[in-house]
Amino acid sequence: MTKPLSYSWLEIRERALISNIRAHRRLLDRGVKLLAVLKSNAYGHGLELTARVCERSHQVDMLGVAGLNEALTLKQEGINLPILVLSYFRPFISHDLITALSQKISFAIYEEEQLKALEQAAKKCGKVANVHLKLETGMARLGVSCEQAVIFLKRILSSPYLKLEGVATHFATAESQDHWFLNEQLNNFNNFLSKVKNLLPKDLYEHTACTAAITTSPKSQRNLVRLGIGLYGLWPSTNNKQMVQKNHPNFDLKPALTWKTQIIQIQNLPAKTPVGYDCSFVTKRPTVMATLPIGYWDGYDRKLSNRGSVIIHGTKCKIIGKICMNITMVDVTEIPNVKVGDEVVLLGKQKNEEITADEIATLTETINYEVVTRINPQLPRVLV
Ligand SMILES: *Cc1c(COP(=O)(O)O)cnc(C)c1O
Repeated sequence: MTKPLSYSWLEIRERALISNIRAHRRLLDRGVKLLAVLKSNAYGHGLELTARVCERSHQVDMLGVAGLNEALTLKQEGINLPILVLSYFRPFISHDLITALSQKISFAIYEEEQLKALEQAAKKCGKVANVHLKLETGMARLGVSCEQAVIFLKRILSSPYLKLEGVATHFATAESQDHWFLNEQLNNFNNFLSKVKNLLPKDLYEHTACTAAITTSPKSQRNLVRLGIGLYGLWPSTNNKQMVQKNHPNFDLKPALTWKTQIIQIQNLPAKTPVGYDCSFVTKRPTVMATLPIGYWDGYDRKLSNRGSVIIHGTKCKIIGKICMNITMVDVTEIPNVKVGDEVVLLGKQKNEEITADEIATLTETINYEVVTRINPQLPRVLV
């Protein structure tokens, strides 16, 4: 691997991604298909790169993205797998829709405006638009209510320009220990489907399960699942981790991402030296300080100031002072022979030490999903 010309970069382990896909596939019933969720720059891991790995794995049947722009980018990059736009597209950009319809891009739909736009585009280019009805079963976020969905469904089925490819819903509480609300949503989903059973095409995709549901609610799998956070080797929640490890002791996730940088300066500071903005840290002893070319612009959360650590020569080193926009200082007093250019791990493993997205999430009062998706998309991602 050639090192990218950048001050910090992400290494994505192909083998980890593939191992995570396999691990989830082993929990699927026979014939259940797998959609890999690649929204938000593939949870920070790099959109195109992750899509390529999915394609090469031959274990993924479909890709999912949030917006049409991401789907079009993937198609421009030559990705051949079908793509489902899970959340939104702008119905007035019709040339985008026309491009989409000739490239195996399907749409989750929940508004009449979307249907009209897709019909117009389909009419213009002589194609049929594949749509998935997004059903609102309890999440209260995006979708058609179960009451209105029958009329909406008939509206889709009566259009020569639309093909109903799927019916979908999303769970609000799949990550929690208690599944009563998930089961409530699943009941609403089932009730709707049985009400319209006679109208539905035979080859319909029914899908409800995110990562947490795949691993803890087999009956939510239907015939297609949507694997997000688990693909990247991260657990949806601590509760979910406990439940899965109890029921499937051999189930294992491998975090795919390592975020690295290099030391740009070493300074020897006497005791009682204030460090950085606001002088928020003062050395208690003579201190060797390393400066790193990384800051909150890169997505390195400022809440890690005086709290987080990095790994250098396989040893954890504390962040001292406030994280700046592009610069962070760490205490390397205990590291022998430390020098400019030495590799620093911000997230991931080095030798026997590891900093996980969950640890950073705890320190910054958020969830691992936010930690990885916040890493600046301009930083290079390299597959290793
Ligand atoms: C993000 C998302 C997923 C994936 O969720 P994970 O918890 O990351 O597995 C699945 N479905 C929809 C509709 C989503 O928006």
